[in-house]
Amino acid sequence: MSTPSVVPQRHRVVIIGSGFGGLTAAKALKRADADVTVISKTTSHLFQPLLYQVATGILSEGEIAPATRLILRKQKNTRVLLGEVEDIDLTAGTVTSKLIDMRTVTPFDSLIVAAGAQQSYFGNDQFATYAPGMKTIDDALELRGRILGAFEAAEVATDHAERERRLTFVVVGAGPTGVELAGQIAELAERTLAGAFRTIEPRDCRVILLDAAPAVLPPMGEKLGLKAQRRLEKLGVEVRLNAMVTAVDYQGITIKEKDGSEHRIQCACKVWAAGVQASPLGKMIAEQAEGTEVDRAGRVLVQPDLTVKGHPHVFVVGDLMSVPDVPGMAQGAIQGATYATKVIKRALKGHDDPTQRAPFHYFNKGSMATVSRFDAVAQVGKLEFGGLLAWFAWLVLHLYYLIGHKNRITTIIAWFITFLGRGRGQMAITSQMVYARLAMNRVAEQQRGALAAAEQAEHAEQEAG
Ligand SMILES: Cc1cc2nc3c(=O)[nH]c(=O)nc-3n(C[C@H](O)[C@H](O)[C@H](O)COP(=O)(O)OP(=O)(O)OC[C@H]3O[C@@H](n4cnc5c(N)ncnc54)[C@H](O)[C@@H]3O)c2cc1C
Repeated sequence: MSTPSVVPQRHRVVIIGSGFGGLTAAKALKRADADVTVISKTTSHLFQPLLYQVATGILSEGEIAPATRLILRKQKNTRVLLGEVEDIDLTAGTVTSKLIDMRTVTPFDSLIVAAGAQQSYFGNDQFATYAPGMKTIDDALELRGRILGAFEAAEVATDHAERERRLTFVVVGAGPTGVELAGQIAELAERTLAGAFRTIEPRDCRVILLDAAPAVLPPMGEKLGLKAQRRLEKLGVEVRLNAMVTAVDYQGITIKEKDGSEHRIQCACKVWAAGVQASPLGKMIAEQAEGTEVDRAGRVLVQPDLTVKGHPHVFVVGDLMSVPDVPGMAQGAIQGATYATKVIKRALKGHDDPTQRAPFHYFNKGSMATVSRFDAVAQVGKLEFGGLLAWFAWLVLHLYYLIGHKNRITTIIAWFITFLGRGRGQMAITSQMVYARLAMNRVAEQQRGALAAAEQAEHAEQEAG
């Protein structure tokens, strides 16, 4: 009688997230002798740096968010699962994800957590109702609806004050996202929408960029910050620094200046581009790894090899990791994921001793932000420059990192149309873009209420019985 042969199981790598960190990790494991599973709550790989161009009608969402499944189609050792990770069990070595009402438990030998960060309202989550953030495709489409919708409403408003309110746009947060968005709203009004309305003049709109900090683009230093500020002001953007937002409602926004005085800005369209909070998965992991903590933004204080204490095969990378001098930028995520996969590949060959790993080293390639067409600021090492050269550098770099040849070609065409001409190809808006998020929140609230009521009724019945 023959004994059944035991097929040795391949090493299982689970990657959470399909952003810069997750996708880099998955692609790096293409030839690894391992079964790779990518679990993400979104079906696509989102190129966040160009979200503001979706919000202002330059690019379509498909151009900056190709389907992860299609990117990895030819990678036979890799499976892509759509689902929101609800639980990570470091002891059992499992990840539990949920899609609709279906739960999937995926076991792992190595885990790479690249779940990124979400918008932070610094404890004022109620602001989100009227001031959406800029983190997801939904956010960008909602903003497009709100920005273009504000011009439409201004065209039909008969009251002067209401028309002015509709034509006032406030962007909170003077980091790269806020700067880029404010610049593009101003250009949209000045170039694309000019002459398209009959009762309003779009270029008369007010675009206000607010920040509680005393400078624009603080991480890029005083010189570049001032350069960007002056260029924005030339475009007509009002830059108000040292201005802390204290209230946001349907009618507008209240700010507190440095001297303590409070001011009201009546505005219909507000955008929140300030502050990030790491995914709650960071805290979940830290709670299971004794001696591991999260920082104020919820990022995991990882070991020098990007793992969590006591779990040498659990890596945290990207915006979710807290490593001194590594900014929450795409490069941090890409380099962190590359490092983690190198360790895993060495381990697969039996060459890894967790106690002897060389620490992760971040190579700062610089940073840049566009202000308007033909105008950007850039910092590469000690070199700081602005204007057309920086803009071209920005253009080439973004095309390089964009995934897929088709997306690169259509993006170049869209940029030609917008930057050399006046047109924008993505100017369609729908009511759903503007109202769906709030409607969905209301439905979720109702469902939670109904669930709580049913539980209460059951509890009362049990007590009575
Ligand atoms: C508007 C904007 C502009 C930016 N501009 C620049 C720029 O110009 N240059 C630059 O270098 N950086 C820029 N950044 C920052 C850069 O995009 C991030 O640093 C980078 O995306 C981080 O990569 P990540 O893989 O850690 O997270 P992300 O890219 O955010 O990916 C996180 C992934 O995790 C998934 N996920 C999250 N939670 C769960 C869960 N519970 N279950 C399953 N999946 C989950 C998400 O769906 C997503 O796929 C910008 C960011 C934003 C928002």
